[in-house]
Amino acid sequence: MLGNTPPNDELNKPYNPKNHEEKIYKMWEEPGYFNPDRLPVGADQRGNERGPASPKLQRPLRLVGDEARGESTRKTFCITMAPPNVTGSLHMGHALGYTLSDILVRFKRMRGFETLWLPGTDHAGIATQNVVEKELKKQGVSRHDLGREKFLEKVWEWKEKYGHTIIDQLKKLGASADWSRLRFTMDEGYVKAVETAFKHYYDKSWIYQGERVINWCPRCATSLSDLEVEYKEENAEWFEIKYGPLVIGTVRPETKLGDTAIAVNPQDPRYKNLIGQELEIETVLGPAKMKVVGDPKVDMEFGTGAMKVTPAHDAHDFELAEKNNLEKKQVIGPDGRMTALAQKYAGLTVKEARKQIVADLEKKNLLVSRKPYLHNIAVCYRCDTIIEPLLSKQWFLKMKELAQTASDAVKNGQIKFHPHNFAKTYFDWLDNIRDWTISRQIWWGHKIPLDGVSDVLDTWFSSALWPFAALGWPKKTKDLERFYPTNVLTNDRGIINLWDTRMIFSGLEFMNEKPFSNLIIHATVMTREGKRMSKSLGTGIDPLQLIEEYGADATRFALIWQTMGGQDIKWQQESLVAGKKFMNKIWNATRFVLQRTGNSKFEVRSLKQTQISENKDVINKFDVTKKTVTDLIESYEFGPALHLLYDFFWHDFCDKYLEQTKKLNDEETGSTLLYVLTGSLKLLHPFIPFITEILWGKLPVPNKKFLIIESW
Ligand SMILES: [Zn+2]
Repeated sequence: MLGNTPPNDELNKPYNPKNHEEKIYKMWEEPGYFNPDRLPVGADQRGNERGPASPKLQRPLRLVGDEARGESTRKTFCITMAPPNVTGSLHMGHALGYTLSDILVRFKRMRGFETLWLPGTDHAGIATQNVVEKELKKQGVSRHDLGREKFLEKVWEWKEKYGHTIIDQLKKLGASADWSRLRFTMDEGYVKAVETAFKHYYDKSWIYQGERVINWCPRCATSLSDLEVEYKEENAEWFEIKYGPLVIGTVRPETKLGDTAIAVNPQDPRYKNLIGQELEIETVLGPAKMKVVGDPKVDMEFGTGAMKVTPAHDAHDFELAEKNNLEKKQVIGPDGRMTALAQKYAGLTVKEARKQIVADLEKKNLLVSRKPYLHNIAVCYRCDTIIEPLLSKQWFLKMKELAQTASDAVKNGQIKFHPHNFAKTYFDWLDNIRDWTISRQIWWGHKIPLDGVSDVLDTWFSSALWPFAALGWPKKTKDLERFYPTNVLTNDRGIINLWDTRMIFSGLEFMNEKPFSNLIIHATVMTREGKRMSKSLGTGIDPLQLIEEYGADATRFALIWQTMGGQDIKWQQESLVAGKKFMNKIWNATRFVLQRTGNSKFEVRSLKQTQISENKDVINKFDVTKKTVTDLIESYEFGPALHLLYDFFWHDFCDKYLEQTKKLNDEETGSTLLYVLTGSLKLLHPFIPFITEILWGKLPVPNKKFLIIESW
């Protein structure tokens, strides 16, 4: 079955991944081994598992983990790939996450499952719009110059040209995803899915329009969800300002123009007799009337214990205003400039206005004190611009019932987090859930399917449907029937609530079934010193450069080698060097075995039929290793599985056994060498697929198939 086997003298040269990886990848992809429909049905294990080929498709039985072992029914295994952004290029976090998925997928494929790793890319609303806007800016054109329709044409053009980069990079890593099923979160079928989901919620009256204080990015000119806001430390100033008989503190005196009340803690003996009164206050815009309201959330210890209430520019103050019927005065506009309500400050940027107002406060003797103040400021996760909380009309999705079902599914064990402690992140968010702002004021994305609405949906609204929409929903496709619910999903901790939570409640809502059974939250890859890897900070490492220099196998090896327990990875280049050495060790060991075995026949050896004690020992050790590695992969302990395999191969097989065989020269030793080597290549294949496939091709195994589809 294996044609074009390169001559074995190739083994006399050192291993160079560059000569092989691309070729091997094509050898897997072209016959369709990544596609569960095109997997050859072998005479061995596969045939038994599937029973006689029948034209009638039966609903397959889904089994995972322990249940699957020893079963003789048809089994499916499906992972939907966390779709990378079309703007993306592979970073270390991706490389780790996708390697983990690939290990599982290759392992299950070898275990006889009909295995589907379903890939796709995400249209990534704001991110993609920003990239294209930047491109246009170089030509001196803004998206407003072009208009919506022309601009969207440009984005599609960009997507066709560059949106494939990350897919090509995934192939370099060895990802065995079924590219013939590649989806895009804005392809035709997906648009249908989004519209169907929206209509479903809308008909249930769970989607509503409302005025709220939302996070607004003046640069992107759109609302952002709480999860799209990042915080960074800023050296600011704390101002204490005379406020009638009170003194209040703030870092943002410009928002004071929008104050419509003062809040104090009802328990505060200093102020409680003021509650309900209206105070006349001198401000930079002349005298103003402010009501004093009681709010138990005011911290008596913080500042002066009296807080200004700015309903149009603070989410908490907005709620307070609703409760107390206070006026909402918007003094900052969506462009980040002061509005007409700011009177003489109208048109100034927030920064300019702050400077001017502080000067005027000083002039009017209203400034009590100012001092340096370090605080966390909210910035846009896409462009780092300071967020303006603004009163705005937006579309919301009611979250109460959806959050409840999502919470229950993890509480009752239908869905398991690995490691388990990440479930806390999940519950914390669900317990404090607010309705989801699903509208965005950008152009690139799924347009809200309502007449007269120009907003698009939050990009995560479509990603939330991924596990079933990617399989064909709302159509009742064969894939949906076969592969849903999927088995495993893996991503990093940063998107547990942006994505995982939303997939869980969406799956339960639309499919009446969880989207996946196991959620693997993988480690974060940090710098050696434990700092965040970041391109802009110059602390990032490009996995493609590693692949170029060391090969995909060594790169995968280094990533998995460092994935131990739930710990984050402090990246060590030494693991990569160790990976490269290990590849050479396997290469040289194979050459040695082929020289030693000559015409020996390959046979599956058991302890019972083996006489020589050295052979018995190595077979015994191999069988134990195989069982433990299998169990470790089933329980997602990838690092320990690789360490075990490494130790077995390097020490037990090479250092000890290969040395011992130098004094043995018989049939039994020859076939033991072949048995243990071929078995080891199988176990190593999911971790380091390229080199194991090449070497497998050189071994005298009867009725040999490609290693990728051999049985484990
Ligand atoms: Zn922004």
